[in-house]
Amino acid sequence: MGKLQDKVAVVTGGNSGIGRAIAKRFVAEGAHVYIVGRREVDLAETVAEIGSSVTAIRADITKMEELDAVYARIVADGRKLDVVVANAGRAESGKLGEVDADLFDKIFNLNVRAAFFTVQKGLPLMTAQGSVIMVSSSLNNRSDSGMSVYNASKAAVRSLVKTFANELLSRGIRVNTLSPGPVDTPIVDTNSPTPEAAAAFREYAANEVPMKRMGRPDEVASGALFLASDESSFCTGMELRVDGGHAEL
Ligand code: NAP
Repeated sequence: MGKLQDKVAVVTGGNSGIGRAIAKRFVAEGAHVYIVGRREVDLAETVAEIGSSVTAIRADITKMEELDAVYARIVADGRKLDVVVANAGRAESGKLGEVDADLFDKIFNLNVRAAFFTVQKGLPLMTAQGSVIMVSSSLNNRSDSGMSVYNASKAAVRSLVKTFANELLSRGIRVNTLSPGPVDTPIVDTNSPTPEAAAAFREYAANEVPMKRMGRPDEVASGALFLASDESSFCTGMELRVDGGHAEL
């Protein structure tokens, strides 16, 4: 029997990188997983890769009506939710003098506002003893140049988790932060102007990590499985870093 046998989970950004690895692991452990993202092709590819017990919902979660439609679909399927993973995020950079309001809003709209409402709007569907996982970053308490907006957005996520965890104690719902370090996902390519720049970033990122390598999405999925399952039944409000020592050492 899997660690998430017969559980139902929603994973935003479940069609790529870390979210895709989480969805795959949850299904392998017996869950039915709803993956949410904007790109139809990646949604279809992920469903094909996982094979069964996975439902794709196309939605831009920064749009409240589309987020509502995600949960309406789960209700229409007659399901409750045991696990919510607020994972979708973006990571553009810019130094203090370069960031404009548009970039600032794009990052906070997705990483903070959409993550907040992903949890809020999922709550009515959640079972007692449910688990909420919010994906932050090892950068949430660091000072890497050019990352002020992203780092602040992920610090906000870390903060939300603490208050949500407190507010949801009475419902038995646990809320925890999952903070990956540099992980090799398509986000690196999305944020690099050329393949050469992406390769240079991968080398830089690996060197920044005390373990001298980038993480793999499946290593982060192992952390998500711990937080989603009864293995973490006495954990709430915590931060689990899966980062090769990036934030700790
Ligand atoms: P990724 O491969 O680029 O995945 C990002 C996901 O977010 C995609 O599935 C994307 O799907 C989804 N997404 C983006 N905007 C969305 C929107 N408006 N509505 C719905 N879905 C949206 O990146 P990743 O590396 O796996 O990152 C996943 C999370 O981990 C992010 O929160 C990121 O900040 C965090 N993180 C990553 C690293 C790392 O090094 N990779 C380190 C620390 C933390 P669509 O484009 O199809 O919408």
